[in-house]
Amino acid sequence: MTLELKCGEVVPGCDGVVDGQTREEVMTAAARHAAEAHGLTEIDAGTEQALLAAIREV
Ligand SMILES: [Zn+2]
Repeated sequence: MTLELKCGEVVPGCDGVVDGQTREEVMTAAARHAAEAHGLTEIDAGTEQALLAAIREV
C-alpha cells in the first residue's frame, strides 16, 4: 500500500507530492517538504490535522 499526500490540498498552489508506506512516513516526508519548500519548521496541530486529512491511498 502506498499513501500519497498532495501538498496543494493544504497549501494552495503548491505542486509538491510526498508519499510513503505508512501515515507516519508520509507525515515525516511532509514535515521535510514543509521545511524545505515552505520554511515551516514546526507543524501546528491544525496543519497536522489538515495534512492527515489529505493523505490518500494510491
Ligand atoms: Zn508544498
